[in-house]
Parts: sequence; C-alpha cells; structure tokens
Amino acid sequence: MAALDLAHLNHRRIWRDFDYCYPVISRRSRGVSLGVNLNPGKACNFDCVYCEVDRLNPARRKDVDLGQIEDEMKILIDLAISGELFKTHPFSTAKKELQRLNDIAFSGDGEPSAAKEFPESVTRLAQLKRQFGLSDVKLILITNATVLKATGVISGIDALMANNGEIWAKLDAGTQNYYQTINRSSVSLNQIIENLEFAGKRWPIIIQTLFLEWEGRRPSDQDINSYINSLKYLLDSGIQLQSLQLHTIARPTPEPEARPLSTAVLDEIADEVTRKLPNISLDVFYGTVA
Ligand code: SF4
Repeated sequence: MAALDLAHLNHRRIWRDFDYCYPVISRRSRGVSLGVNLNPGKACNFDCVYCEVDRLNPARRKDVDLGQIEDEMKILIDLAISGELFKTHPFSTAKKELQRLNDIAFSGDGEPSAAKEFPESVTRLAQLKRQFGLSDVKLILITNATVLKATGVISGIDALMANNGEIWAKLDAGTQNYYQTINRSSVSLNQIIENLEFAGKRWPIIIQTLFLEWEGRRPSDQDINSYINSLKYLLDSGIQLQSLQLHTIARPTPEPEARPLSTAVLDEIADEVTRKLPNISLDVFYGTVA
C-alpha cells in the first residue's frame, strides 16, 4: 500500500497540548474530522475488545471545560480551513482528496452522549460552525447507542440534526452472547436495539458495525445471520437507515487477540448482508493492520 494511503493510521486523540479536540484523517468521513473528546477521564459504558483507548495510562484530566473546547476547536477549524493543517504530518501525507474538512465529530475516549455536557457542547459547536460560515461541515455523533432515549441526549441530537448532523450508531452483534463477548457492557443488546429503533424513527441514522477476529475466531454464520435479522427487524419497524458501514480493525489495539478480518471475509459478510437486505446503502472499510 502506498504511503499516501496511511495517514488515517495515525489516529491519536491528542493534538499537541490540547485536552479535548484533535484532528484526524478519517476514511469514513473521506476527509478531516475534528474530534471532540467529552470523556477525557476515559470511562465508557462499553468495554469493546477492539477499543483503541489507552486505559493503562492515567487520564490527563477528567473534567469537561466547554470554554476550552471552544477555544481548541476554533484553532483547529482555523488550521483546517486555512490549509495550514495540511502542511503538518500526518495530514501532509494524506491523499489530496482527503485534505478537506468534512466534519466535527463527538467521539473520543468514551460514550460522548453520556457526558452531561453533550447537549450544551452541541449548541456551542453548532454556533462556532455558523461563525465560521461552515454550513457544509457536518456535526457527527459517534455513539454506542446506550443512552439515545435520555431526555438531554434527545435535545442534543435534535440540535445536532438541525445543524447538518449525522448519527453514526454502533451495532456489532445480533445475539446477547456475541454482543457480550465483543462489547462487554451492562446495557443489554435488547436495550441497544430499542434505542436504535427509537432514534431511527426520530432521525435518519447510519449504523456502523465492526466485525473482527477475536481470540482466533471470526464471527460465525449464526452470529452474522442474527445480526442481519436485527437489522431487518429495525428496517421493518420503520427506521430511516441512511446507510450501513461495515468495517474491521484498522489500527493496532491494546488487546492483541483483536485482529482485523481479511478483505475476503469482510466481503463475504457484506455479500450476505446485501443478499438479504438488497435495498440498503452499504459502505465497506477494510482493515490495514499487518
Ligand atoms: S464504545 Fe467506543 S470508547 Fe467505548 S469501549 Fe467501545 S470502542 Fe471504546
């Protein structure tokens, strides 16, 4: 693979001395995504086997300072739209078509919508986007779908969607057993499905699914079939599925037993999804870990 394809591998969530905001080249955004970490304490209500967050080293801080988030984001937006960002490594090595600002994303070291500051941070960053005249730049919530029905979260997402928003919601499994193996959460899979149903009826959603090889085992046919049945249930219930993103591990993770699926296996799964759900829009992102 050419060096120019590899900029997305450098996906660190620390930018210089910033505490909350960081730029990344994102394959799924097809450009630069300016991330906001509302969970600097690194707590998450999932414990995904493929999580990239380094929880061995202590957090630099745990509080969320909305004023500092705005200040950091202003600097990053300025660097991106002036082009200065693309003179620095690794952004200078990205393909030219990826050297564009696509979005501001609520992501980071835990579940962003679980932070009590989530609704207010959406309001402030939407305002910042307006100040810079960036109506085309998306506001994206990357979520594990655990708290989508909470009142504050609903108002935060309403504000997000009113400002060129997108919801990227995780669904990695179709059975409680496989979900518990991969996502390791005290929130049940039934609850996640209920939340996705609620959210997908209220707003268009993008579902993103990571399949991997875990402890030497790829997802079984039964795991895949149950997953497709869950998608089918959600579609039949009337959710607005904007698209489905299938991906696998793209960068090294702390757990060595978590490995990317091969292109052939991911294609096989994608073919099965398309065969059973022919009308959905499907994007596949392959792994790049050696
Ligand atoms: S939901 Fe995201 S932050 Fe939380 S454990 Fe999973 S991958 Fe990590």
